[in-house]
Amino acid sequence: MLAAIDQHRDGLFELSLRIHKNPEIGYEERQASTWLATFLEGAGFRVQRGYKGVETAYRADAEGKDRGPTVAILSEYDALPDIGHACGHNLIAMMGVAAAVGVRAALDQLPGRIAAMGTPAEEGGGGKVALLGAGGFDDVDVAMMIHPSSRTLAGRTSLASNRVDIEFTGRAAHAAAQPDRGISALDGVIQAFNAVHAMRLTLRPDARVHGIITSGGSAANIISEYAAAKFSVRALDRQYQQEVLKRFIACAEGAALSTGTTLKVTIHENSGYENMVPSSPLADRWAQHASEQGLQVMAGAPDERMGSTDMGNVSQVIPAIHPYIAIAPEGTPGHSTLFRDAAGTPEALANALKAAKAMALTAVDVLADRELLERAKVEFEDRRKEGVVRGRMTS
Ligand SMILES: [Zn+2]
Ligand SMILES: [Zn+2]
Repeated sequence: MLAAIDQHRDGLFELSLRIHKNPEIGYEERQASTWLATFLEGAGFRVQRGYKGVETAYRADAEGKDRGPTVAILSEYDALPDIGHACGHNLIAMMGVAAAVGVRAALDQLPGRIAAMGTPAEEGGGGKVALLGAGGFDDVDVAMMIHPSSRTLAGRTSLASNRVDIEFTGRAAHAAAQPDRGISALDGVIQAFNAVHAMRLTLRPDARVHGIITSGGSAANIISEYAAAKFSVRALDRQYQQEVLKRFIACAEGAALSTGTTLKVTIHENSGYENMVPSSPLADRWAQHASEQGLQVMAGAPDERMGSTDMGNVSQVIPAIHPYIAIAPEGTPGHSTLFRDAAGTPEALANALKAAKAMALTAVDVLADRELLERAKVEFEDRRKEGVVRGRMTS
C-alpha cells in the first residue's frame, strides 16, 4: 500500500504544485477538480463529477472484496481571493488523493469501500455543508482529511462560525453643497464596526467577530448612498456563537437606527460552520501512524489557536478526523504570503506525503479492524446523547 503511494509520488507532487500555481476560489475550482478526478480515474476509481449537483465536487469510489464500511477521504482545493493558496489546500488535495490511491492498492484484501471525495469552497462557501444537505454523506461511516499548519496535531477542534453581510442604504447628496440632504450609508458601516468593538469587552475570549468594508461609497464629494461590510462571527460552540451572532445583528441594527440608514442582513447559506469534534480513537490511530512515518505529533495546547472548517459539520454527523501537519516553521500565520510560499516547497510535499500515508493506514485500520470502528461509533453515540455532536438529521 505504501509502495503504491510512492509509485505515484512524482505525479502527486506535480498535481499539488499545479494546483498551487493555478489558484481558483470556492466553487470556481474547475481546473483543480478536473485534474484530481482525472488522476483518480487513471488510478482505477469509478468517478462521479459534479457530485450531488455541486459542479466542482466529485466522488471517486473503489470497492473492497466484501461488503463493509465506507470510509470517505476528503480533498479540498479552493484558494483564497487575491492571496492564492495561503491555506495550503493544494496539499490537502494531494493528501486525499494519495491516501485513496494507497488504500485502493490493499482493497482486494479488505471489506468495505473507499470514497475519495472532492469538497469545494471550504473558505466560506461550505462545499461540505452543501454535500451534507444533498445526502452526499448518507452512506459514509467515517470521514477523514488532513490540513497543513505550522504544527502537527492529531485532534484540534475548530470554531463554530457564520458569514454575514451587512448592507446600509442612505441617500446621495453633494457632500459640500447639500450634505444636510444626504444620509450616509458609510456612517452606518462605521457605527456598526464601533458597536462591535464596544461589544468585545463583554464577549467570551473564544468569540471572534471580524470584518472588512467591501463598499464605502463612490466618491468623496458624494454622501455615500450605499456601503457594505462582510463579517465572520465565531465561537467555540454553536449555542454561544448564535448568541454572539444575535448581538452582532443588534450592533448593525443600532447603527442603522442612529444613522437613519436602512439595513439588509444576509447570513450566507452553507456558511454555518459547526465546531469540529474529532473522533478520539481515529485521531489517536492517525497520530500513531504519523509518528511511525517520522512526523513529530505535538499535544494540543489548551488555548490552541484555531479557525473554522466545514469539516466541523461532517464531524457533527459521523466520526471524523481533521489532523494538522507542519509544513512551515512554527508560528507562521495561516492565510499569509509566508504560508502560501511554504505550501509549494519540497519539504511541505514530503511531509504531506508522510501524513497521507498515515491517513491511508488509518483508513485501512477502519476497514480491517471492526473493533476500531466500533469504538469510534460508541464514542460518537455517547457524545450525541450528551449533546456534544448533533448526529444525523432525521427528516
Ligand atoms: Zn483557510
Ligand atoms: Zn484551510
